[in-house]
Amino acid sequence: MKRALITGIFGQDGSYLAELLSGKNYEVHGIVRSELSPQSLKLSRHLAQKGVTPILHECDLTSFERVADLIKTIRPDECYHLAAVHYSAQTVFTAPFESERLLLEQNILSVLNILHAIRESSPETRFVLAGSCLMFEDSGVSPQTEATPFYSKSVYGTSKILGHQVTDLFRNHNLHTSTAILYNHESPRRQEHFVSQKIVKGLTRIKRNKTEGLESEKPDDVLELGNLDDVKDWGYARDYAYGMWLMTQADSPGDYILATGNGHTVADFVKEAADCLGLTDWPQFVKVQPGLTRPITRTKLVGKPDRAQTALGWTHSLDFRGLVELMVQHELSGTLD
Ligand code: NDP
Repeated sequence: MKRALITGIFGQDGSYLAELLSGKNYEVHGIVRSELSPQSLKLSRHLAQKGVTPILHECDLTSFERVADLIKTIRPDECYHLAAVHYSAQTVFTAPFESERLLLEQNILSVLNILHAIRESSPETRFVLAGSCLMFEDSGVSPQTEATPFYSKSVYGTSKILGHQVTDLFRNHNLHTSTAILYNHESPRRQEHFVSQKIVKGLTRIKRNKTEGLESEKPDDVLELGNLDDVKDWGYARDYAYGMWLMTQADSPGDYILATGNGHTVADFVKEAADCLGLTDWPQFVKVQPGLTRPITRTKLVGKPDRAQTALGWTHSLDFRGLVELMVQHELSGTLD
């Protein structure tokens, strides 16, 4: 029986990965913080209902001793490092210094600690780091490939670039280490403050109120959004978890862009969701809130997933419309996918 270790196991991606690996009969281990957040608690219960009950380990990823001890004990065949401090687009430019310091500490030290521990006591472990398209956020090149130079002006993007470079460094020590360069991926399991969920939940609430003739006329029943022209390459999170698994199955390590290759604006997402809900008068319920508008990055973040398609046989299973439909359907039925 194969053993896998997942950090961030009760996040969106971690939960899909845990489900995938349990289905493949892995012994699944997960690293969690001493106290689960409400979101993690919700996804852990959801997994339990599906019969997915990973073995949990409390661990401070910035403590090398603790990480080393765990890796030595578990000696996983595969390790997926998904835990990271990350922001929604709306908070990325307003975080106080202390949050940025913690972000860098968590996102970089954790990679170094895990990889050092793997090299010391479990060199056969195959490792994947969850990277991000924001590593390219100021590259000025679109669409991006794995050959596009990394350039970020945010602390988060920079932490992912450094994490990737550390991952690359350990590959030179003959470890099977890879970075998945992940573009936006969503699902009913996505945290509520991300724009996809804000749109789906907000429009569904408005539609319900209208249908039930309750508060439809209330002027404050609006969906407040930032920049409607922001373009994102949106995919389905379950596909990205599968892509990361394919990366550990490959004979050689490598870095892969996981993306759909298609960009859509926030306004497109709103229109599509409204269409799924039959909410024809949606413009009257959507308000642009200048405080939520992030400066336009000079790079349209759309990825070319050709390498993953050719080398791993990976492709996305849901297109943009399919993704929005799935999220709306689950919101309507109050289920989590
Ligand atoms: P989530 O926020 O849903 O999940 C992150 C998980 O990591 C949460 O369960 C969180 O726990 C946990 N976590 C965070 N910090 C720590 C820590 N120090 N110790 C232990 N657990 C921790 O994110 P996703 O699943 O969507 O994303 C997974 C990875 O992919 C992240 O690294 C993210 O940066 C990256 N990524 C995601 C994209 C996306 O569109 N979803 C796009 C690009 C990159 P808790 O609930 O306790 O905070």
